Amino acid sequence: MVSSITLKLINRRGTVSHEIALGLIALALAVAVFYVDAFTEIESAIAVLYVIVLLLAAEILTRIGTTLLAIVSIILTLFAYFYSHGFEENVPAQLRLAVSLAAITITCALILRNETARVGLIEANLHLRDSETRYRYIFEHSRIALWERDYSAVRSFLMSLKAEGVSDLKDYYRTNPGVIVACTGLIRTIAANDAAMELLGHMTDGLHSRTMRRYIAPDDDTFLDLMDAIFCGERHFEGKGNLITENGESRLVIMSMSFPEDPSAFNRVVVGMVDITQREMMQKALREAQDELARASRAATVGTLSASLAHELNQPLGAIVVNAQTLLRWLNREPPDLAAVRRSAERIIRDSQRASEIIHNTRSMLTQGDRTPEQVDLETLIEETRALMEHDFQRDMVEFDVSPAETPLAVKAIRIELQQVLINLVTNAVQAMRETAIDRRKILVSLGRKDDIFVSLSVRDFGPGISEEAMAKLFTPFFTTKPSGMGMGLSICRSTLEARGGQLIAGNHPEGGAIFEMIIPIEDDHDQH
Ligand code: ADP
Repeated sequence: MVSSITLKLINRRGTVSHEIALGLIALALAVAVFYVDAFTEIESAIAVLYVIVLLLAAEILTRIGTTLLAIVSIILTLFAYFYSHGFEENVPAQLRLAVSLAAITITCALILRNETARVGLIEANLHLRDSETRYRYIFEHSRIALWERDYSAVRSFLMSLKAEGVSDLKDYYRTNPGVIVACTGLIRTIAANDAAMELLGHMTDGLHSRTMRRYIAPDDDTFLDLMDAIFCGERHFEGKGNLITENGESRLVIMSMSFPEDPSAFNRVVVGMVDITQREMMQKALREAQDELARASRAATVGTLSASLAHELNQPLGAIVVNAQTLLRWLNREPPDLAAVRRSAERIIRDSQRASEIIHNTRSMLTQGDRTPEQVDLETLIEETRALMEHDFQRDMVEFDVSPAETPLAVKAIRIELQQVLINLVTNAVQAMRETAIDRRKILVSLGRKDDIFVSLSVRDFGPGISEEAMAKLFTPFFTTKPSGMGMGLSICRSTLEARGGQLIAGNHPEGGAIFEMIIPIEDDHDQH
């Protein structure tokens, strides 16, 4: 009954013996149905029983096999009908035939549809298994510490708080600090990769007995933020927090996780963590060193300023003494020359005002708090620097030349910052020319507008220039080629300018010597930084 072609199309799903048994039963049933249908007088839709043959055989046949079997069943049904009834008019028999044919066709269609759905399901399952394997591989081998955690209990707990009327979790925490301890006890770890074990240490008593409580540092707010993210229904969370490892060390980590849309999937949330303890410690140390050296550099500037202050005050103070002596002489005359006394007194007042102005200017240059941007005329700034460093120029026999801009240039900046950078660059230039022939020791400062936004102030010297090796590390903190250098000057100068939107560019002049260019924004963009 089942053709040889159909037999080849048998689908190997069960065991071979099971398939053979099913095939034989179906074959026997088909033969019996055909025999009863064609050769007995039973007035009934016997051919409907081919449906059972189809259902049995569908277990072991492919789609094509099932379709062929349905066609064969229809042919046999028609053959049996014409064999028994010929072409005579027999309405009940025709109706029975129609019912049988319909039953076979519908059953075949349903089997095929079922089969399509089954194959689809198998494929989906295979894909799922594939992606699970891929996910496992990535999970296990990632260098990022990964955990799979069950957040379903903590989510339910938080949602129950919401249902009870809590609208702000952080607010609620302030009066109920125990809520966080309760939450930490509800999160269970399901799996952790090697990197995670390395980060927190190996757990001797197994993962599953562990809740988050063990690892959260008591003073850490990140966990509260995390709970708040779940409470507010956010889909992602990223935070920086402290964890306590198995052997009690504190680790600073960046953690990141995504929450599923479907609440039932909260039982498997992947948490990623990156240990930034070392990096953070290094950055802190570097920041502290930079602050310390910036203070030292400021102290050096203060030294330069106070030397110049003493120098500048000398003149008005001397004048005051001379005028006071003159005033006394005019007073001691008989009769006293009051007009001359008045003139001397006026000169004393004028010189005292000058002295007080000098002190005031110097103080405002130094005051830490006085750091609001102001209009700074760069030519004046350069002249002030010249005055401040006059002693250095004389000592090292250095000429200081300024080539001013065509039009006066002013920038909105913090005066003391620009002054400090300029003093640093000029000091470096003076030091760089210690080996240069005296008649060539010259510093050229030039000022010009770069474009609509920036002004350029460059300091050129006639020293040996910057070697290729030094050029690469010039702005790196602690890089120095001087026996008593700190190697912080240029690094501080660059960060000072960059913090205000400017730049510091170093280079060598084609005719020898180094040239440092300060690029200063005309408008202060302090607010943007
Ligand atoms: P320090 O002056 O303490 O060494 P800096 O950061 O100011 O620190 O300078 C770093 C290094 O850059 C110097 O040691 C020197 O090698 C190089 N350098 C700076 N300015 C000049 C210059 N005008 N000419 C040549 N080399 C320079």
